[in-house]
Amino acid sequence: MQADDRLAAIRGRIAHAAKLARRDAADVTLIAVSKTHPAEAIEPLLAAGHRDFGENRVQEAEAKWPALRERYPDARLHLIGQLQSNKAAEAVALADAIHAVDRSSLVTALAKAMDAQGRRPACFVQVNIGEEPQKGGCAIADLPALLAEARTAHLPIAGLMCLPPAGVEAAPYFALLAKLARDEGIAGLSMGMSDDFETAVMIGATHVRIGSALFGERQAAGTAA
Ligand SMILES: *Cc1c(COP(=O)(O)O)cnc(C)c1O
Repeated sequence: MQADDRLAAIRGRIAHAAKLARRDAADVTLIAVSKTHPAEAIEPLLAAGHRDFGENRVQEAEAKWPALRERYPDARLHLIGQLQSNKAAEAVALADAIHAVDRSSLVTALAKAMDAQGRRPACFVQVNIGEEPQKGGCAIADLPALLAEARTAHLPIAGLMCLPPAGVEAAPYFALLAKLARDEGIAGLSMGMSDDFETAVMIGATHVRIGSALFGERQAAGTAA
């Protein structure tokens, strides 16, 4: 199947899940996660009118996107991977949205870069929703303080983001993220990937991040994460 056919199929599945949940599919942004895939794989989606793309590494995004954006200036780039504070300025210069704001030092670095550049990409605060030690994301207990800090620093908080534990039913984790967002008065929910996006849409996802279901499997570990 061609990438644009896959895109249409996924849009159809999102629309179906949204309908079941009495939601408007237009309230769900499909982020095509193009990490590890070359510009030639991305172009057909841009040509088909898709505009939201996700990359997890600043360096890779910097290598691919300036040329693509020359041809498609309205493409929107979402940085979805863990971000080092020393990459904050590059991230702010490049991204339309940053989905992995997860700690105080990064809030400070992003705020400084935004003030310096006069550019304010939408920020999603990543929550370590399964309390997994090896994963990024702020601890649930630390979320209110981190959000307060981010608001004080004038980061435009667009939503919460999570990556639920692998290999178990994701729905309870999506529901928990939705509850945390409600408690904090936050509208956006970046959750759901290739294997579970319909569930995420039914639970309220506003942004789903879909890679392999659109582009095919990535190369094995090392390049994949
Ligand atoms: C790679 C990645 C995705 C997409 O994963 P698929 O299973 O390929 O859809 C989504 N979110 C994040 C944070 C990722 O790193």
